[in-house]
This record gives sequence, structure tokens and C-alpha cells, in this order.
Amino acid sequence: MASTATALVPPEVLARYEAVIGLEVHVQLATRTKIFCACPTSFGAPPNTNVCPVCLGLPGALPVLNRQAVEMAVKAALALNCTIRQPYSQFARKNYFYPDLPKGYQISQYDKPLAEHGWLEILVDGKRKRIGITRVHLEDDAGKSLHEGFRDSDRYTYVDLNRCGTPLIEIVSEPDMRSADEAYAYLNELKLVMQYAEVSSCDMEKGHLRCDANVSVRPRGQQTFGTKTEVKNLNSFRFLKQALEYEIARQIAVIESGGVITQETRLYNPDTGETVAMRTKEHAHDYRYFPEPDLLPLRISDAWLERIRASMPELPAQKRARFVEQYGLREYDAQVLTLSRALSDYFERAAAASRDPRAVANWVMVDLLGALKAEGKEITESPVSPEQLAELVDLIVSGEISGKLAKEIFSKMFATGESARTIMEREGLRQISDAETLSRIIDEVLAANPKQVEQYRGGKTGVLGFFVGQVMKATRGQANPQLVNQLLKEKLG
Ligand SMILES: [Zn+2]
Repeated sequence: MASTATALVPPEVLARYEAVIGLEVHVQLATRTKIFCACPTSFGAPPNTNVCPVCLGLPGALPVLNRQAVEMAVKAALALNCTIRQPYSQFARKNYFYPDLPKGYQISQYDKPLAEHGWLEILVDGKRKRIGITRVHLEDDAGKSLHEGFRDSDRYTYVDLNRCGTPLIEIVSEPDMRSADEAYAYLNELKLVMQYAEVSSCDMEKGHLRCDANVSVRPRGQQTFGTKTEVKNLNSFRFLKQALEYEIARQIAVIESGGVITQETRLYNPDTGETVAMRTKEHAHDYRYFPEPDLLPLRISDAWLERIRASMPELPAQKRARFVEQYGLREYDAQVLTLSRALSDYFERAAAASRDPRAVANWVMVDLLGALKAEGKEITESPVSPEQLAELVDLIVSGEISGKLAKEIFSKMFATGESARTIMEREGLRQISDAETLSRIIDEVLAANPKQVEQYRGGKTGVLGFFVGQVMKATRGQANPQLVNQLLKEKLG
């Protein structure tokens, strides 16, 4: 909440500081089964039905690593320009006690993570910036505590263990972001990359993408970092931005009033737009990490790595560059058209079917996305297929319809799902580009308006617009405007 932030510190004081932000993002991998057992990962099953001795942590049950989870994690790491750890990475136990963690520990990776030293490029205010990726590691998820929704929720907390053992990757960034806007752009690009790489659907509402932030501030020009806090519960893009703006302002207000920042974990409350202290920051030694004795070190052979590398799909940055190169799009347009894979696929199908890809890009961004937004629909629900949109664009290119008629036809296509040509022919909406027909209509208009003809010939050339309007009226807007202009000037001059 920007208003909450500016209420804490006046803008001129805010401007004297810069923020230092690093993000820890958990991404749920899109495997069918859990990371160490064969239970399904499906969302929305009745509580405690997708469980087995392994994910319940029953004595004697042993984990078996899911190969698909490893492949997806490697894909994600490669998409983030990371180096895969050789000769092996290692799983570790992270010990803590919590009701939704039946094993009493999480299986994660600690000093030997799967991948390290990557980067991701973001675009903010037209400027490109590389954000370092410290590491990508594999781990299992915990269950879920349910504090409400039951008749006796005032007295009891329920636990659903279906999510226990769901495969996650944790992606830790370097503290390279300097504003809430940069953090927002980073998370957005990260989500896109994960979706393009087909490792996660990143559905935030289902908890597939979860984000914590490490935040500190320092006076501009200072090199050393200030004390950081960790802000949790940033589970939507809006919350991330609001929480960071609030936390940055809060820290500046503390320093300005002569206080010091406490290293602690804070929870974002979306209802108030504020962060509140939750607990003092825990340290790695609190978790008593040690190598997981039930799992072998994870070796990714060169051959396996090369196979995964070869199977990588085109990533958003590559696609944007190709759109600019291949279709002559502006960089901004390429950015918009790659905001989701479904949208970029739609554009490419339409562009491939049309004679004017740049015009197609415009129609997709302005008319189609506008119409979809007005009805609260996704691109995948578009009543106008890519091929139909391409046909409409080509009718303009060939001069059969004007741009104005095309808009009218488009709204009918959107409402009915019919093709442009069907609508055009049934309703007689073809553009009149036949000079003989137009000539006859123009003669009639001129004959009916002798006074205006006299005015034009007397030097008031502004009345030309009046004649164009009359011809358009007579043709129900179907006359080719360039041709009308040309013929009128010939006849009047
Ligand atoms: Zn299981």
C-alpha cells in the first residue's frame, strides 16, 4: 500500500535511500507424483488421502527419488543460466518440529545444492538488468495446517498431509534488486521462464509459486549492506509489491528516528498492508543440517545433462528476440506478446497465416486482448481463432475492407465465432474501391450540394471533409476513403 509507505516517510527522505532486495522463491514442480514416493500430487483431493508411509514419515519407510522431478529441476536451473553441480549434489535433513511436518525434518539440499551461479535478465523502465541467481536446490514440501473452515475451528487446528512430499525447487537470488518494481519484474520473469520451460504451472492461487524476500536499506552511495529482515507471505504479485514498499519505508523510518533494524522474520498482512514481527531470524545451525542418510548423492551424468539441454524449449527472452527479428515487431510488442505461452502461440499461428504479421500483432494486442479483457476471458477462450484473425487482417491488406469496417466485422466475429468473410459477404460490408461506382456517387453528392461546391471553388478547401462525409453516408461507410479523396479533388479542381 503506497499510501501506508508514504505515510511513514516523506518522499524526499525515501529518495535518499536505496533498498537491497533478494528473493527466495519456491516453485512446485509439475510432476504427477511426489518427490520420494508414488503418491499423486493432484490438487484438491479430500484431506489425507494422497499419503503413504513414506510421505507420512512412518518408521522404516525409505524415500526413492523421482527421476522426473530431477529432470525438471535441472531444466529450471539451465533456464536460469546456472551451472549444475558436478560430480554430485547431496540431499540434507533440515530438522524442525511443526504439526504439518510428520517426519520431523524436511529433505532439502544444503552445502551441495543441485545448481549455482546463474542469472536472470529483467527489463524495468526500458533498462535491462541481470539479477544473479545464487542457487537452485530440490526439496520436499510440508503439509498444510487448517486454522478455519471447521465447526470447532475455534478450538482445534486440522492438518492435511496431502501436500507432504510434493517436489519443490527453491531459487535463491543474489541481493541485486534495488526497488519493489525490480523485485516485481524479477518474479514475473521467473514465473514466465518456469512456465516456458514446462517445469511448473506457477499457479499462485494453488501455491505453486511462493515468495519470501530479504530486505534492507542503506543511504544512497553507501557500499555496505544494512541489517536485513525476511518478509514472508508474499503470495501474490500485488502483495509482493505492497509488502516491499511498506517494509522499505518502515526501515527508513526506524533509521531516521535514530533506531536500529532488528534482524527478524516479518509477516505481511494484506488486510492492513503492513509487515509485523513474527520471530527473530533463525540461523542455519538451528536446523542441525546433516547429509540425508537414506538417499545417495545425486549424480547427473554428462549424457543425461546433454539430453536435458537438448530438450529445452524456447525461453521467453529468446522468443522476444526472435519476434523482433522474424516479424519486425517493436521490442515492447514482443514483450507483451510473450507474457504467456498461450498468447505467444496464438500470435505465431495468426502471424504464420497472414501476409502482415505486424498488423496481426496490433490486432492481437489492441482489439483481441481488449475484447477478451472486457469479458474476463483468457486467450485460450478466444472465440476468434488465430486463422480467422489472420483472414480479417488480410482482407484489409488486399483492400477488400477498410480498417473501420474491419473493426465492425471483428466485433461480430468475437460475438458469433463466424469468419470475417462470412460476415462481410452476408452483410454486404465489402469496401467500395471501384472508381466508376464511386464516381457516380460523388457526382450525385456534388449535384445535390451546389452551394458547397461554389465555396470550395472560391478557395474554402475545408469543405472537402463535408463531401467525404456525404459520400461515406451514401455508401454506409464502405467507400475507400483514399479513393474518395482523390476523385473529389479531381472533380472539384
Ligand atoms: Zn506418499
